[in-house]
Amino acid sequence: MKQIYLDHASTTPVRAEVLEAMLPYFGGEFGNPSSIYPLGQRASDAVAEARETLANLIGAQPREVFFTSGGTEADNWALKGFAHANAAKGKHLITSAIEHHAVLHTCEALEHEGFEVTYLPVDEHGLVRPSDLKAALRPDTILVSIMFANNEIGSIQPIEELAAITHEHGAAFHTDAVQAFGHEPIDVNALGIDLLSASAHKIYAPKGVGLLYVRKGVKLANLLDGGQQERGKRATTENVPGIVGFAKAAELAAAELTPEHDRQLALRDHAIKRVLVEIPHAKLNGSWENRLANNVNFSFEFIEGEGMLLQLAARGICVSSGSACTSGSLDPSHVLLAIGLPHEIAHGSLRLTLGRDTTQEDVDFAIDSLKTTLVNLRMMSPLYEDFKRGEVDSVIERFAADGFPYTN
Ligand SMILES: *Cc1c(COP(=O)(O)O)cnc(C)c1O
Repeated sequence: MKQIYLDHASTTPVRAEVLEAMLPYFGGEFGNPSSIYPLGQRASDAVAEARETLANLIGAQPREVFFTSGGTEADNWALKGFAHANAAKGKHLITSAIEHHAVLHTCEALEHEGFEVTYLPVDEHGLVRPSDLKAALRPDTILVSIMFANNEIGSIQPIEELAAITHEHGAAFHTDAVQAFGHEPIDVNALGIDLLSASAHKIYAPKGVGLLYVRKGVKLANLLDGGQQERGKRATTENVPGIVGFAKAAELAAAELTPEHDRQLALRDHAIKRVLVEIPHAKLNGSWENRLANNVNFSFEFIEGEGMLLQLAARGICVSSGSACTSGSLDPSHVLLAIGLPHEIAHGSLRLTLGRDTTQEDVDFAIDSLKTTLVNLRMMSPLYEDFKRGEVDSVIERFAADGFPYTN
């Protein structure tokens, strides 16, 4: 059976060119970058070159880029490192309710240490309102952390405006850009970003490597103590093959950024339009305008998300549900609840995230399969029976009546 992978927000395959660039560093070029003989120096040069490539991609200086073990470590380091180094100035942080758990759980850890955190709400499209940030800033606010683009619903935040408001109040601005890095154009200076997290495995490079951009002059406490790697700020022997692969993937992404973005965006819109026309009782989650080019997220009424995932998986389609059920918990996703979805339809959500290899044929096969799946599941749903008899109301019809535009 053909496999159709539509879960690129979760991870991506390593590109052939990336693997090829990495291979020498698993083989003959295995040196430790801290060693002074040529084998070590060649590894050190490879890391330096990778740092420069990655810095260039976001308009940063190479000295402002630090390698980490992934997006999660970069988020932990940005928040804990900044909070610990700047606690004398204040102990208040601001983030949003729809952050990745790498940020949310880090904030909770800081709260246990005595820091205070404000979680900004988002509007029905999953966007932070700049006026809410303005109102939440306090004299003791030291850091604002708002993700560039959401991993579940793809909403892209007004980063430049949020960073400007943050700076007017003298605080620093971090963004978890894991979903945007290599997919959307990013210039840390034009946007006013002080700290930025990125991860290699979301851009066709291996898992286990990421980076934190730290603007010159921003003080961070270390997360890892040990050797003098990363100029004494992050100990442990560098993941040389991973770093080389990360840079290769970023270089390739930069070279094809606009055409690939536009190609995926056309496919995305094709998928969204097909669902809105062909599948009844469906609601697009997130903003349509301010949205990642590869993200499609819908809620469907009168079905359970797990049933949908299982039937799609049986047809070779890899997608994820909007609820956290797959990760062993029955709670609906915090992101879907934050955009105002009631539990009933947050449970019936589906995320399709497209990638470089996705074709229109793949998208059409997935939507056709989804249509069949939903008909099957609804045929077995007692709630759908009740709805047809007029005994229960449609939650999605209520959204439509309230003026939410993207429903069927
Ligand atoms: C995947 C992801 C992370 C975590 O990155 P890892 O490299 O897997 O640790 C953090 N934030 C966002 C928005 C993500 O999508």
